[in-house]
Amino acid sequence: MSDCIFCKIIAGEIPSAKVYEDDRCLAFKDLDPKAPIHILVVPKAHIQSVDAVTPENSGEAAHILEVIPGIMKELGVKTGYRVVTNIGPDAGQTVPHLHFHVLAGQEMGWTPA
Ligand code: AMP
Ligand code: ZN
Repeated sequence: MSDCIFCKIIAGEIPSAKVYEDDRCLAFKDLDPKAPIHILVVPKAHIQSVDAVTPENSGEAAHILEVIPGIMKELGVKTGYRVVTNIGPDAGQTVPHLHFHVLAGQEMGWTPA
């Protein structure tokens, strides 16, 4: 997707503070962190959101869930973290490329709505 900001980050056309990369996904620091550790993990394939996950592409989402624990361990997170993904306007999704927010480094409240 040529006008997708996360596709541009994946292509290296926009800089990012990378924390992990493999052939299927990229993790980088959120520009506007909501916790001491706030990273975004995105599939390299352009998938709009969880709403666009299908039997054909669900492996990309599953792979991200597989790598998140190792990324948290690498960042020294020992006391828990939160994984969030927003889908569509009511949830406040601003970038239409599937991304998992991973938040850590503080005790968190729970006021998701
Ligand atoms: P959402 O609102 O769930 O779609 O999340 C999009 C996230 O992307 C927000 O938390 C933004 O701060 C973050 N973001 C937008 N542009 C960039 C960028 N160039 N580098 C890092 N994070 C970004
Ligand atoms: Zn994209």
